[in-house]
Amino acid sequence: MAVVLNKISSPGWTREFPDLPSAVVELRKHVCRGCLSGAPEEGEPPLDRVEDGILVECHDAISLLNTSCGYEFSLEGDHGLWTDD
Ligand SMILES: [Zn+2]
Repeated sequence: MAVVLNKISSPGWTREFPDLPSAVVELRKHVCRGCLSGAPEEGEPPLDRVEDGILVECHDAISLLNTSCGYEFSLEGDHGLWTDD
């Protein structure tokens, strides 16, 4: 079973991906720079960080889904992140 990315907020859509990494690449496109930068004043570390002058992109699906942009999305299917009961 593939990984399905749902946009919950209107206008919603559903897209299917062959695996989790490709779904995360799509999800990242919908998370704004502000969310990726975190909220250091609230003790939230940035998702994307710069190490030795190189941008390290966050590809952790759960962290991305937990941003305010990410709340508009859900992942279903065979992503292996958690078990659906
Ligand atoms: Zn955002």
